[in-house]
Amino acid sequence: MPVRGQYNFDGGSHLVEGIRIGRVDAGINTTFIIYRIGDTVIDCGPPNQWEEVKAFIERGPVRQLLITHHHEDHSGNGSRIKDITGVTPFAPELAQAKLAAGYKVPPLQRYIWGSPIPVKTVTYPDEMTLSDGSPIIPVHVPGHAKDLTVFFLPKQKWLFSGDLYVSKSLKMFRNDENLSQLMSSIRRVLDLDFEILFCPHRGIVENGRKAMEEKLQNLVWLCSESQKLDKAGLSLATITRKILGREEMVSWLSGYNISRRNLIREALKVSL
Ligand SMILES: [Zn+2]
Repeated sequence: MPVRGQYNFDGGSHLVEGIRIGRVDAGINTTFIIYRIGDTVIDCGPPNQWEEVKAFIERGPVRQLLITHHHEDHSGNGSRIKDITGVTPFAPELAQAKLAAGYKVPPLQRYIWGSPIPVKTVTYPDEMTLSDGSPIIPVHVPGHAKDLTVFFLPKQKWLFSGDLYVSKSLKMFRNDENLSQLMSSIRRVLDLDFEILFCPHRGIVENGRKAMEEKLQNLVWLCSESQKLDKAGLSLATITRKILGREEMVSWLSGYNISRRNLIREALKVSL
């Protein structure tokens, strides 16, 4: 599969490089960007795109590999990268058992990304830095996944956001996502002094703080509208249709694992 996009962000003392890859080119949700800042690599890319990931890894020496969470598009090639570089990946503590044992990926996601190869990982060290000694701070931000961790680089004002951002207006949710936690996590990162977001799906968002604030505002609106309609006695299906429109093909194909109604169901639980 070809590389679907190249990213080169000149951050002064550091160049951030990225490639967008994916078996299915149906927009940001089916393609993935693996980033590197010199010898630091963030996430591993989908397992069915190893050829492209391997070439990207081989652009230069790798000193550390940082995994944001266990989902297969982020972690899937950890074992292969370890094999060719000798680097044991860092991963959230909550992800380590799952990553080591492997886990079953639902059919639709398996078609899009492939199945992750089990990998032994270790916890982020107390001090992580770029090659010039500037700090990389892991921040645990559950919601999208229990283990999701983003990386804040205070000197550069960068945030490698895992799947915390993706879009400023969410339309769908996986059935294991927790919206109350997600909103608290967004508030937590908004307390950090970052400007630029590096999202593995959306791309590089230069006005990242504003985009993250807008995402939070949109979610607050979504919760208050859903709760208003719920108080008026409307059903979950009707509230979903009124606010987000009809379910898409992906909801049917995933057996509602990824759907609009999951998002509204969660929106009804959030205390505003
Ligand atoms: Zn994810």
